[in-house]
Amino acid sequence: MARVTPIDVRWTGRPRSIAACLLESDGQATIIDPGPTSTLESLRAQLSARGISFGDLSAILLTHIHLDHAGAAGSIVRENPRLPVYVHTRGAPHLVDPSKLLSSAGRLYGNLMQFLYGDFLPVPEQNLRILSGGETLALGAQKLDVVYTPGHASHHVSFFDSTDGIAYVGDTAGIRIEGESFLLPATPPPDIHLELWDASLDAIVARRPAKLFLTHFGFSDEPAAHIAAYRDCLHRWSALVGELLRTHADEASGAKAFVETVGAEIRGALPSPEAEHYLFNGALELSWRGLARYWRKKSEASVSA
Ligand SMILES: [Zn+2]
Repeated sequence: MARVTPIDVRWTGRPRSIAACLLESDGQATIIDPGPTSTLESLRAQLSARGISFGDLSAILLTHIHLDHAGAAGSIVRENPRLPVYVHTRGAPHLVDPSKLLSSAGRLYGNLMQFLYGDFLPVPEQNLRILSGGETLALGAQKLDVVYTPGHASHHVSFFDSTDGIAYVGDTAGIRIEGESFLLPATPPPDIHLELWDASLDAIVARRPAKLFLTHFGFSDEPAAHIAAYRDCLHRWSALVGELLRTHADEASGAKAFVETVGAEIRGALPSPEAEHYLFNGALELSWRGLARYWRKKSEASVSA
């Protein structure tokens, strides 16, 4: 059986924000979602404490290419030029040439980009192993099934370990700090798609995993209950954004209303330091933008149909 070690990369110095995962099996060490380059040294130090260097890694698996999950992949490959990087076919071109990804992230994060995420070095094409869903990856003695799970991102995949029942779901099942019951969707632009997301949640539940592993943050031990609660919250947010777009003349005032409403809910449900932790990780303004874009695309499609 594999040894599974979550690694808290302490994003921006905060614990419990971004978790990479180290999988060791039969002498092979694999990292699922290494995190951004801004936490590369933290990842390096924590691997090194376990006797593993970047040069020892056998593979990197990416659930998707958002900066907080995949940003460090190119930097690690630079140190280990034979390292294979597994990614969905729709995400692959942006790893080879991240310029488009970086310019849209730059529009969202402005001059905080470097502090939050650091560099995003390209991954050479020969390192990429392209996934479309349906594959089974052999990592040492461990086998991981790949399932295409779009909704949060159009190129999102999840990895299912049928031996120990862990489902590595990236951002498909939201933000929930291990051991807590509160959860929060993350719906950043540009790909949010509720119907695809629902189908992805169905696909995860259908595999009856014993545990979910969330990048933000850690294990969730009751996958079916987690996903039911998550689905409710996601749809509630989507309906709220749809309603605010109808009732507010401009997007800025709709965004403000969304951030205030959801922010008040979070502060009502959690003690102050924990509420602020979710708010920092949740980036409500971005979630508004992602859902507002989803609704605009939907209404354009119905007009042109
Ligand atoms: Zn993401």
